[in-house]
Amino acid sequence: MRKPIIVGNWKMNKTCAETVAFIEAIEPVLHDGATFGVGAPFTALKDATATAKNLVIAAENCHYKDNGAYTGEVSVPMLQELGVTHVIIGHSERRQMFNENDEELNLKVKRLIEAEMTPIFCIGETEAQYDAGETENVIRTQLAAGLKDLCPKCVAKMVIAYEPIWAIGTGKSATKEIAQNCCHIVRDQIRVMYGDEAADSVRVQYGGSVKPENIKEYMACEDIDGALIGGASLKVDSFTKIIEAVK
Ligand code: PEP
Repeated sequence: MRKPIIVGNWKMNKTCAETVAFIEAIEPVLHDGATFGVGAPFTALKDATATAKNLVIAAENCHYKDNGAYTGEVSVPMLQELGVTHVIIGHSERRQMFNENDEELNLKVKRLIEAEMTPIFCIGETEAQYDAGETENVIRTQLAAGLKDLCPKCVAKMVIAYEPIWAIGTGKSATKEIAQNCCHIVRDQIRVMYGDEAADSVRVQYGGSVKPENIKEYMACEDIDGALIGGASLKVDSFTKIIEAVK
């Protein structure tokens, strides 16, 4: 049985004070039906881990080197020291705006696994790729490169977020049929690369304009084990409704 995992991605939002207030408001509504978490900006992570009891705290990026001349970067040991357990890797905004590629993302995933942290590895096609019928190929290619040379047992513990770029922050969510079909392709590619145990254990999230009104229909899909949520994770009210909807 795969335990669902719902993670908010705050992006470049929330000060330390806002982070603490949000977590204090959310903690009482958490329940055992799923793992719940938020990806917070680096500056708020220390306050976030100090405030959270059951909420998982994720970073939104990391470097694959432990230290050195990498101005502006943050390493895995630095995040570990703060009590961070999960890291979002390869979000489409990082791929598109900061030119992150699958080879570099593969190094980040490897470093996180070595540190026994959980990567939330993001993949997904652009609107042009979707229109050209390239979705399956993009999913398989990004997974083949980004999750190259890992051990099957490590992959089993990971989270993969399928996020069609055309659905992120656009209000244009994928139908449950598209989301299920793509998350099934994700799982199948893991089966091809790492076998049945990894494929049946890895948790696959859908992301892209998930909100209180549509979370239930995604969660009812066989291959969808949770969601990565941007906009609707920023307000206590909407995140609470999502948490309650997955009871
Ligand atoms: C995201 O940023 O990963 C995301 C899915 O955003 P939104 O829910 O706002 O579409």
